[in-house]
Amino acid sequence: MDKIDIKSFDLKELTEKFIEDGIQKYRAKQVFDWLNKGISSFDEMQNIPKDLKAALNEKYFIPSCSIEIKRVSKLDGTIKYLYKLYDGEYIEAVIMKYHHGISICISSQVGCKMGCTFCATGKGGFKRNLYPSEMLSEIETAEKDIGERISNIVLMGMGEPLDNFDNVMKFLKLVSSEEGMNKGMRHISLSTCGIVDKIYKLADMKLQLTLSVSLHAPNNTIRNHTMPVNKKWNVEELLEACKYYGKVTGRRISFEYAVISGINDSDECAHELGRKLKPVLCHVNLIPVNDVTDTGYKKSSQKRHQAIINILSNYGITATIRRTLGADIEAACGQLKGKHIST
Ligand code: SAH
Ligand code: SF4
Repeated sequence: MDKIDIKSFDLKELTEKFIEDGIQKYRAKQVFDWLNKGISSFDEMQNIPKDLKAALNEKYFIPSCSIEIKRVSKLDGTIKYLYKLYDGEYIEAVIMKYHHGISICISSQVGCKMGCTFCATGKGGFKRNLYPSEMLSEIETAEKDIGERISNIVLMGMGEPLDNFDNVMKFLKLVSSEEGMNKGMRHISLSTCGIVDKIYKLADMKLQLTLSVSLHAPNNTIRNHTMPVNKKWNVEELLEACKYYGKVTGRRISFEYAVISGINDSDECAHELGRKLKPVLCHVNLIPVNDVTDTGYKKSSQKRHQAIINILSNYGITATIRRTLGADIEAACGQLKGKHIST
């Protein structure tokens, strides 16, 4: 029998499991509290009797994540972790320090199926989904390491969160629950490459999180080329889903636009983007594209970024350039893992 991930239950579910197995109810709360402290084995649970620890160990496992590499940026204090999972796989997480608090960018899958041409994670292919508890562990491990509370969570690391929908929804429930980590939904963002059916599903759940959509192109010709997911759901279908999301949740969508020289940075592209985004309640984040080895993609000039912002403002759309953090530590996702695995 495969062991069950004990950390992916909320307190109510764990209590039910314990009752089913004839274990006293109050033990569930004790075990739950230990799990929330970020322990990685049943042996560490001090107030739990030996025979119960052994029984739990028979049936369950605790998917931990340990720090394999840690890099701290000398420029801005950004921290990048390469975590090792219980089965020897690697994922990345990044800590960013802002004046309003500490943010963590976490991974939702080992690798990614989506194959975007500019992305280091996409190039590495897909291994597996992360369990809800592994996503929690990314945060716990970092909080323990830095000794500070993390206030903002961004699902913008490796993987496509909406391609691991059920586990990500479970994670969101656990991370925001009062008995759990108690992080506010308003401080959580989720980034997707545009899995349209799941955007509708998410909208109907009416969560108060921020949705980021990686658009990166104003039309299907460019987007089909850089983001294969566009062949399944095109720009028009994606923007329809975004409008629906805004209407149902009342929340502004944040569009990510990685500016690539000669690919999507012309005035025409900016006008087309402005025309199409005008009816959507949104903000645009321009990201100077990171040079990922052998894509051949190059960053645009500061002038081109500003030109895009000016054009978008004519359509009533606010756009800002995302600050590059951790430029000296390969903070962009997939890059550290790529180097570690290949060296
Ligand atoms: N799969 C999700 C979330 C993870 S990717 C998504 O695609 O939205 C996190 C963000 O980094 C996305 O906006 C993605 O498009 C962007 N990204 C990936 N590679 C990049 C690169 N080389 N330069 C700039 N942004 C990149
Ligand atoms: Fe996957 Fe996002 Fe990278 Fe595309 S950009 S390959 S969806 S992680």
